[in-house]
Amino acid sequence: MASIKQNITLKEHQGFVKEVYGLPNDRYFGLWDMVSNMERFMMRGLKGIRKQDKAKIRFNLLIALSWFISIMNQLHIDLDDQVWRRFPNLCSYCGSCPCSCKENKINKRKGTLAGKNKRPKTLEEFQNMFAEIYPAKERTLEHAGIHLAEEAGEFSEALLTFRGGHKDQDFKNLELEAADFFSCIMSVFNSLGMSAAKELSVMFANNCHDCKNAPCICDFKNITNFKS
Ligand SMILES: [Zn+2]
Ligand SMILES: [Zn+2]
Repeated sequence: MASIKQNITLKEHQGFVKEVYGLPNDRYFGLWDMVSNMERFMMRGLKGIRKQDKAKIRFNLLIALSWFISIMNQLHIDLDDQVWRRFPNLCSYCGSCPCSCKENKINKRKGTLAGKNKRPKTLEEFQNMFAEIYPAKERTLEHAGIHLAEEAGEFSEALLTFRGGHKDQDFKNLELEAADFFSCIMSVFNSLGMSAAKELSVMFANNCHDCKNAPCICDFKNITNFKS
């Protein structure tokens, strides 16, 4: 049985998703199918924001996150490394913590120095790091949701560019966009005041959250309710 614990690391999360969803992903879903599913569940999560339905936001964004991790696995991207490279306890734009982009009207990326201490070990620690860099009180939940949608668009665009040209530089850009998308999912959970790792550990206590199998046998046509 595969399960997620609250103290799961990003590497272990990628391993969990591979164990539960790797086989059906390889067999039934192409990369673009996975991107469509990631965006489909993310949009359902955004609908939850509009409807002020926290359970709907949580459930759908955790599924969107799982599809995103499946995409990371297929592309052999180590999310832990990429997120830390992009956000070494600092905003990737203004290079400070908490972020001071607004006050200083930063519109050109300053870049950050990686390799500082305080590298988070677990998914939950990464979420806490983002709470420090981008405090939830500085924005509304709606704002966090719009930013997430924006980053999903940039991620798709980077993927289209890379798959069109197969250039190493475009792949590096895709890795950066992946880190940005992940940071925005964490920010929505920070705005909700929820630990994504804790919610994942409830939802994925026993293999796939829906069919309860590993490998999963869902067709993902109708995923509407959380079965506890
Ligand atoms: Zn900033
Ligand atoms: Zn399933």
